[in-house]
Amino acid sequence: RFMDECLYLYMEEDMKKIVKFGGSSLADANQFKKVKDIIQEDESRKFVVCSAPGKRHGKDNKVTDLLLMCYQLASHDLGYEEVLDQIEMRFQSINDELDLGIALDFLFEEIKHNIENGASEAYLVSRGEYLNGILLAKYLDFEFVDACEVIKFKEDGRLNSELTEELLSERLKKAGNAVVPGFFGSDEEGNIVTFSRGGSDITGSIVADAIHADLYENWTDVPGFLIADPNIVENPEPMGKVTHKELRELSYMGAPVI
Ligand code: ASP
Repeated sequence: RFMDECLYLYMEEDMKKIVKFGGSSLADANQFKKVKDIIQEDESRKFVVCSAPGKRHGKDNKVTDLLLMCYQLASHDLGYEEVLDQIEMRFQSINDELDLGIALDFLFEEIKHNIENGASEAYLVSRGEYLNGILLAKYLDFEFVDACEVIKFKEDGRLNSELTEELLSERLKKAGNAVVPGFFGSDEEGNIVTFSRGGSDITGSIVADAIHADLYENWTDVPGFLIADPNIVENPEPMGKVTHKELRELSYMGAPVI
């Protein structure tokens, strides 16, 4: 029994978990606090993949949608500054409320400069994950690992999985604890390439695979799977138990959060 316990302790210590948090889980400073609590609860949660800030409430905008809007306005020679200012304000309020002291004005100057010089759509829409990753890494006291250094795409737009695995495992071993922004990487020339929308989940699984993680935890910001849509039914109960097959069927039928 003693041996069993030693083995168990040894295994626990060596566990590596990747945790991915989506946009609504990182939508504001309060959500950042919950995420920190979850990560600090378990030492094996060493590597974090994040999305861009999502909606804080029903009528809110996702930062990625706003960035896309900026790109479209800029590419039609229309004023994009107002939308970019709104994005900056969202990040600034997280920065201020958590007292992170990150020079966001400098980072936004750089983004503006790149827009003026014809930045690509992929570059611009990926800035939500990039900036959120910088804020989250500072808040957690983890290292920030820019996805464009470790997630690599081939010329034909497909993932270069061998190179990605090599770069990721090497870089993350060195870092110990790290935040990697989801949704993007870069090609051989260093140009930003994104996955399709919602692609931070894919980044999470790539990171988990590259470092041979014991577990890939994909967190969302609801307490469980509810028995009815809370937009229609008031205070529905969460389901006590659900099988994988039932869950799969529900997702095919369009249940939005699993
Ligand atoms: N932020 C991106 C999107 O809104 C990617 C993601 O969240 O996974 O699609």
